[in-house]
Amino acid sequence: MPIETFIAQVESIKNLTHDVRQLDLRLIEPKTIAFKPGQFISFEMPHPRTGHLVTRAYSIASQPSRSDVVTLLFNLVPGGPGSGLLFDLKEGDKTHFKGPAGNFYLREDPGRELLFIASGTGIAPIRSMLLANAECPDPRPATLLWGLRSQRDLYYQDELVDLTRLTPTLQVITTLSRPEPSWPGESGRVLRLIEERITSVENLSVYLCGNSAMIADATALLQKKGLCPIYREKYYDDKGAPED
Ligand SMILES: Cc1cc2nc3c(=O)[nH]c(=O)nc-3n(C[C@H](O)[C@H](O)[C@H](O)COP(=O)(O)OP(=O)(O)OC[C@H]3O[C@@H](n4cnc5c(N)ncnc54)[C@H](O)[C@@H]3O)c2cc1C
Repeated sequence: MPIETFIAQVESIKNLTHDVRQLDLRLIEPKTIAFKPGQFISFEMPHPRTGHLVTRAYSIASQPSRSDVVTLLFNLVPGGPGSGLLFDLKEGDKTHFKGPAGNFYLREDPGRELLFIASGTGIAPIRSMLLANAECPDPRPATLLWGLRSQRDLYYQDELVDLTRLTPTLQVITTLSRPEPSWPGESGRVLRLIEERITSVENLSVYLCGNSAMIADATALLQKKGLCPIYREKYYDDKGAPED
């Protein structure tokens, strides 16, 4: 698929948490986009400090069958040019971006079940993959392990429950690294879930998306369990900071 420049209009904005936002961009020119679930688009903007043009990538969080609207999911990085640009957009605003691009997309890998592992907004490309998988006549069995920080950071929980009803072979586990004592669900980093829940990787294809520490640690853990394809999308380098 060639990389094109798109003009789009902000159709809707949803504040999913105190610092995570979902944006629906309706395509104006070209009117549709063809992409693989997991791919990203990029925006160019001047850096507020230097004035130099910089580029920031954002995964498409919607599924390819919805080709006239692109959904993005992002968190606020204070002072950051990319997230700042997206947070400044209002309903009806026009913007432009380039895409689609990237090698992090859902593969065939016949006979393998899917294991998705995300931290934070790393859920974006995985949401696209989950929705695309759910639309298949015979969805592949899949497990999602998703790490967030605390209750106030939770989102997409109802949507994921709906998706598991639609796709009974999908299992979703959200874990919180800093839960309130009242949290009834899993706690700790996603790495703990990998350690405890994944006994063998023999029949798995793994998709990892999030910060560099989570991706490095998860890869090392999975490789200890055996050999399987591992596809990775690193959002940013956190220089050894914990995944949350
Ligand atoms: C292929 C690809 C796809 C991406 N898709 C998404 C996406 O769908 N949603 C999304 O939110 N981000 C996504 N990112 C990250 C995004 O491109 C930006 O890096 C992010 O929005 C921060 O950019 P900024 O210009 O606002 O801040 P910057 O000034 O570039 O960031 C400053 C510092 O903040 C830290 N940081 C960067 N990103 C984050 C973050 N998300 N959370 C916390 N700290 C961060 C880093 O240490 C970084 O050095 C993606 C990155 C890549 C490479």
